[in-house]
Amino acid sequence: MTQVIVVGAGPAGLMAAETLAKGGISVSVVDAMPSVGRKFLLAGKGGLNLTHSEPLAQFEQRFGARQPEVARLLAGFGPEALRDWAHGLGVQTFVGSSGRVFPTDMKAAPLLRAWLHRLREAGVRFHMRERWAGWDEAGALRFATPQGDVSRRADAVVLALGGASWARLGSDGAWVPWLQARGVAVVPLRPSNCGFDLKGGWSEHFASRFAGQPFKGVAIRLAGPEGQAFERKGEFVATATGVEGSLVYAASAQLRDEIAARGDATFHLDLLPDRTPAQVLAEVAHPRGSRSQSSHLKSRLHLEGIKMALLYEVLGKEGVNDAQRLAATIKAVPLTLASARPVDEAISTAGGVPFEALDDGLMLSALPGVFCAGEMLDWEAPTGGYLMTACFATGVAAAQGALRYLGGT
Ligand SMILES: Cc1cc2nc3c(=O)[nH]c(=O)nc-3n(C[C@H](O)[C@H](O)[C@H](O)COP(=O)(O)OP(=O)(O)OC[C@H]3O[C@@H](n4cnc5c(N)ncnc54)[C@H](O)[C@@H]3O)c2cc1C
Repeated sequence: MTQVIVVGAGPAGLMAAETLAKGGISVSVVDAMPSVGRKFLLAGKGGLNLTHSEPLAQFEQRFGARQPEVARLLAGFGPEALRDWAHGLGVQTFVGSSGRVFPTDMKAAPLLRAWLHRLREAGVRFHMRERWAGWDEAGALRFATPQGDVSRRADAVVLALGGASWARLGSDGAWVPWLQARGVAVVPLRPSNCGFDLKGGWSEHFASRFAGQPFKGVAIRLAGPEGQAFERKGEFVATATGVEGSLVYAASAQLRDEIAARGDATFHLDLLPDRTPAQVLAEVAHPRGSRSQSSHLKSRLHLEGIKMALLYEVLGKEGVNDAQRLAATIKAVPLTLASARPVDEAISTAGGVPFEALDDGLMLSALPGVFCAGEMLDWEAPTGGYLMTACFATGVAAAQGALRYLGGT
């Protein structure tokens, strides 16, 4: 029977395994970790955002420069197919208020359990604690196991090794040099959906009191390299050294690339996005009598806590008492970022195996019979279910590519 080894038991690898098994292939899934889908399970902790319900044309745009390639893959297995697939496992889904799609119980574990059961029934074998370490001199796959090194051969291989974030869950990016040594031009792995360190950092006073606290109901704005603007409302969190959280993640690709190009990146934070500059100025300039500026701003504009502290952080006491400067700053606090946080802390990874190194079936042109899927490919997307969906879609596409390759068509 034709044998395929899938290396990596995340969503991409497991989806590839399922598609191959359905195609009548004998499949072995190998993973370095003691159990499968660790990052998938972690994703379920905050509510497993499987996909997004927005129209497909909009969905595809989330992949930026890689939209054409990812759109082609989503045509084979897109957001609707993913929901149907989850329903087929007995996991119902719902659309949240933001359009994001979640399992009804928000969890990843029941879905993964049902999926593993179905994979085993289909004959998929699992080999855990076996770490792929490239190829041996005879061209076989080399694995480091607790019992020592083993070599494995197969008729085709699907690599679904993930990116380089949260290495303790298994995806550590160690595969990059092994593919490079085989002639694959891997795009450097970079953090995506990541936090940032502030240039110069927060003051000791601000960091010690407000690290971990959220900025809620704010908006951030930034100008892009070609002048295009990013502007969105939401929330994010102050860290000891900078910023992180959903609104920052949404802007993170642009901020990261700007830092790489220019050395730093500045965004403007609107603390009161629902008020116009004129409204803010009118409230700030309203006579305050004997009240302190802080209690004045609290009562007129509901500015307090971390928002108030940020104004003092940026303007100092003198600036906060200058109505014009204060009003302008409330609508646009400039925050300059020096660097992205390390990729290990990021939600996902940009860079990886470029589509130019792959054929339509996601087979490496430099390594016939070796296919790639998931986050190890060079695409990125914001949070919102886009990451998982693309991982599933590439898992299906790589397996279909392998089936065509093995069938000789
Ligand atoms: C905190 C957090 C929350 C997230 N929440 C969401 C969410 O709600 N929705 C969403 O769409 N996305 C979410 N993501 C992103 C999503 O989890 C990933 O994009 C997805 O898991 C990537 O799938 P993958 O199969 O490509 O790689 P992974 O899930 O990383 O799996 C790769 C597997 O390969 C194995 N491996 C790596 N190297 C080797 C080796 N040399 N030998 C053997 N095995 C190896 C690893 O052990 C791992 O099991 C989240 C990520 C994080 C960190």
